[in-house]
Amino acid sequence: MLPIPTLNLFLNSYLWGYNTDMDIGSKISELFQAQEIDIARNQSKMFARVLPVADLADYPNESYEVDLSQPIFEWKIDGSPVTWGPCQVIGSWAPDSTWIWGWENKSISASGYEKIKSAIQALDEINELSIMRKLSMSNDDAHKLAAWCAWKTGWQGSYPRHTENGGTVFLGLKLTAMPHHSVEPKDNPWCFLCGLYPSQVPKIIDIGNAQGLCSKCVERAQEVAKVSSLMDRRESQSQITCCLCRDKVAGIAFPHISICLSCIEYANKALQ
Ligand SMILES: [Zn+2]
Ligand SMILES: [Zn+2]
Repeated sequence: MLPIPTLNLFLNSYLWGYNTDMDIGSKISELFQAQEIDIARNQSKMFARVLPVADLADYPNESYEVDLSQPIFEWKIDGSPVTWGPCQVIGSWAPDSTWIWGWENKSISASGYEKIKSAIQALDEINELSIMRKLSMSNDDAHKLAAWCAWKTGWQGSYPRHTENGGTVFLGLKLTAMPHHSVEPKDNPWCFLCGLYPSQVPKIIDIGNAQGLCSKCVERAQEVAKVSSLMDRRESQSQITCCLCRDKVAGIAFPHISICLSCIEYANKALQ
C-alpha cells in the first residue's frame, strides 16, 4: 500500500498532469537531442511529399484532407490525391501550455489514435509521460515530443496542424504515392529532399532508414554551393550539422536538414 502523500501525488499527476517533481522540458530535450538528426531526416522525408500547413498559402492548388474515422490523410493537387496514407493523433497542444495525448482527447474516435496509442505506451523512455492525462509544456517541446514519438514508433513523421484556438494537433502520418502499395516508410524510399521515388529520377543513393538522396537534388545542391562560392571559402562559412556525416562544418541548409559540402561532393562521385 502506498503511503497517502505518494498516492495523492500520483493521483494528482495522473488526473491533472501536474508536473510535480519532473522537469518535462529537460526530459523531452534530452530524448530529442539524442536522436535529433534521425528525427530531422524522418521529418524532412515526410515534408518532401506534403507541405507544412504554413506554406499552403503559397501553393493555392494544393490542399489536404484528414478523416480520422477512416483514418486517412490525403494530400491533393488540383483536388486529386497525390500522396495519402493512415494518420493518427499523437497529441495536441493548447495555448495554455497543455499537452493531451490523442487517446485522452474525448473528441477523437478510437480509430484516430488506437494504432499509435499502444506503440507509444510501449516506449519505456517516456513511460512516466505517457501514463499522464495532461502535461504542461512549451509549444516547441510539443513539436519535439510528437516528432520523437513518430520516429520511435515507425511513422513517417509528425505533421503539425494549427487549430482555430491557436493550438496545434500533431498527426502521425504514413504515406505513399503509389496506388495499391504499402504505406510503410521502408517500402517508400523516396528522396528525402524532393520526394521523388527511385523510378522518377536518373539516379538515387540509399542513405539508410528508407531514405534516398537523388541525383537531381545533389546537382541542385552543387549549383547552390557554386553560386555562393562556398567551395572556395569553406573556412568563412557558417557551420551546420550535416545530417549524413553528422560533422559540424560548412554546408547547405535545406528547409528541414543540412548537408555538408564534403558529403555533397561524395554523393556526386557516388552518383557518377
Ligand atoms: Zn531529390
Ligand atoms: Zn556531411
